[in-house]
Amino acid sequence: MRQSVDVLVSGGGVAGLAAAAAFGSAGYSVICVDPAPPITDGTAPGADLRTTAFLQPSIPVLEAAGLWERLQPHAMPLQVMRIVDAGGAEPVARITHDFNAADVSAQPFGWNLPNWLLRREFVARLDALENVDFRPGTATSRVFTRESEALVTLSDGSRVSARLVIAADGRHSPVRKALGIPVQTTRYGQKALAFAVTHPEPHNNVSTEVHRSGGPFTLVPLGDHQGKPCSAVVWMETGPEVDRLRQLDPAAFEQAMNERSCGLYGWLEQATPLTVWPIITQIAERFNGQRVALMAEAAHVVPPIGAQGLNMSLGDLGALIALAAPETLGESGPLQAYHRRRWPEAKLRLAGVDALNRASMIDAQPLRDARAAALHALYSLAPVRRGLMQLGIGMR
Ligand SMILES: Cc1cc2nc3c(=O)[nH]c(=O)nc-3n(C[C@H](O)[C@H](O)[C@H](O)COP(=O)(O)OP(=O)(O)OC[C@H]3O[C@@H](n4cnc5c(N)ncnc54)[C@H](O)[C@@H]3O)c2cc1C
Repeated sequence: MRQSVDVLVSGGGVAGLAAAAAFGSAGYSVICVDPAPPITDGTAPGADLRTTAFLQPSIPVLEAAGLWERLQPHAMPLQVMRIVDAGGAEPVARITHDFNAADVSAQPFGWNLPNWLLRREFVARLDALENVDFRPGTATSRVFTRESEALVTLSDGSRVSARLVIAADGRHSPVRKALGIPVQTTRYGQKALAFAVTHPEPHNNVSTEVHRSGGPFTLVPLGDHQGKPCSAVVWMETGPEVDRLRQLDPAAFEQAMNERSCGLYGWLEQATPLTVWPIITQIAERFNGQRVALMAEAAHVVPPIGAQGLNMSLGDLGALIALAAPETLGESGPLQAYHRRRWPEAKLRLAGVDALNRASMIDAQPLRDARAAALHALYSLAPVRRGLMQLGIGMR
């Protein structure tokens, strides 16, 4: 038997769950499928130990989806973004610049939360929505579209007729592949280590990026862990260096991490296991197909710099919701408008993050010196500094 639904969300990662909550909250009937049941406990094996810093424009999208009220009590505000250049001969901080949200807004830049906690709260929100049917353990197997509907076959053999399919099924998106939409991918030979640390000195809501070579070492504030100040770390390096680091014994790893952090916030102690993420930039040639919208990593992937990835995904979701109307849901007009609105924005942000990443990877000493001088020059011009902050937050 075939079930009819307004929206089928393929993928129950953070972005897909948010999409299901948003369309469910807007009154549409929704089925959301994912072959991997979400891990909603931070201590369970396989838990997503990354964190997401939600920037200001993401908050109204989360509010409308009934998600923000659940997240706010756990969120750690980010008031200052600190950029530290440690590109000299020795691994010490030689230039430090603070970008304070107070210069451009009465609000913090954003709010940081662990990804496993997002999954817990998003799934709880879906449970409370009668018009949303979340089916963990079920995958999208086949997609066939025609003008009036998308016909989706699921891995349990059931078939769904949807007016709109939202592909939120990740960077290898099976829905995108079924539609034959090509992607453009840039590889950097780089990986990220993501984990949490405790430290003796408080972070005072400062998010810190330390630049030396190989990529940034970023500390993002979290709530206390076992009574100690705690931050999430994203440490980007070349692939071989990450492979070397993850094979070190715990004491040697801690030593290497503390050298790389230049002693900021005191001696860092590893508080969670390491997880490793390959770093790429990728964009789909278009974000729409017949009866299909691509969003999140199915549409675009960026290196984790400046907290852009999931925030861009919530920008996608905000546009999809704004363009949706019960009479025209999934029709080509609104889907083309979605592509026109989101693709150029994503392309611009990809280019910006790509440039920052390449600058941070630089190894040769004279170029590292030039990078420090350029950062200093940009920072010293107050209007440029404010403009960069607004751009980074997504205020313009
Ligand atoms: C180290 C690191 C730190 C980051 N920090 C930030 C940050 O601070 N701020 C920010 O905005 N972004 C950040 N990002 C980016 C952010 O984490 C990602 O954008 C986001 O997690 C990706 O979400 P997604 O739902 O698109 O993809 P995924 O999490 O990959 O989810 C895709 C889902 O699709 C499912 N799926 C696969 N096949 C099928 C199928 N056949 N049918 C149905 N479902 C399927 C998968 O099981 C998976 O659950 C970071 C990324 C990294 C690597």
